[in-house]
Amino acid sequence: MEQKLSRQVALITGASSGIGAGVAKAMAASGATVVLNYPVDATRPAAEAILADITAAGGKGMTCQADVSKEDEVVRMFKDVVSAYGTVDILVNNAGLQRDSAFTEMTLDQWNTVIGVNLTGQFLCAREAVREFLRRGMQPEKSRALGKIICMSSVHEIIPWAGHANYAASKGGIHMLMQTISQEFAPKKIRINAIGPGAIKTPINHAAWATPEAEAKLEELIPYGRVGVVEDIGAAAVWLASDDSDYVNGVTLFVDGGMTLFPGFSTNG
Ligand code: NAD
Repeated sequence: MEQKLSRQVALITGASSGIGAGVAKAMAASGATVVLNYPVDATRPAAEAILADITAAGGKGMTCQADVSKEDEVVRMFKDVVSAYGTVDILVNNAGLQRDSAFTEMTLDQWNTVIGVNLTGQFLCAREAVREFLRRGMQPEKSRALGKIICMSSVHEIIPWAGHANYAASKGGIHMLMQTISQEFAPKKIRINAIGPGAIKTPINHAAWATPEAEAKLEELIPYGRVGVVEDIGAAAVWLASDDSDYVNGVTLFVDGGMTLFPGFSTNG
């Protein structure tokens, strides 16, 4: 049976752990050839281990180093992928990090690091992906779209988050970057959307679910009553990358167990 992402190449940034690894596994299981980006040599073994899991399960792909905040590394990564596989069909702009601080203590370095990876990194990768989609042209046997970009945002693109001004600003920025380039390139049949995860169990938020007490406190923010797992995001990403969502452009799909329903108001009047 033809799989939903057959014959398509998906580049997933920050794929050596967490949500990126989960999305890579889900896309590979749906037939995509996956490129697992990792930032520095130290994260290469983790990326290779995820790739080994994928190939053991019958999938295919490669790993590729690039710090997404560095223009020359991003340009080189896209060249490497195109020379290995001919093109890129799907970009998952997933790489991200936090450098938390009370606002009055926040250093310029903490600000620039988060904006550099979370926002500038998405700009650089999206720009190279769009250039490649336009260069390659339509291949209707693979997809009804010229290309697909999925931006990993967060519930914090709309929920303010004290102590995380840099992170929340980066995610709010992703929302307008995503919608603006979606508006610009929908006429070229490029679909650009975002996923807004709620609380998903990954290394980025380990302290928030590491103990039963912490997890129970976190669940107070989640009407659906469970903390998310990377498979929740993987399934959403496959749908957004496939022709099943062909008429979906410029939206953020919140995958958050209802966190954006503001459950604190449910017993308030
Ligand atoms: P994670 O820490 O496991 O993954 C982040 C990945 O980004 C890592 O693999 C890391 O190596 C990579 N990375 C960091 N800097 C990089 C750089 N300069 N270049 C390339 N890769 C780089 O955390 P995660 O939870 O899997 O986060 C993935 C994305 O999901 C992030 O954008 C994060 O903001 C977003 N998100 C996560 C949650 C959650 O609850 N886990 C919620 C909302 C949004």
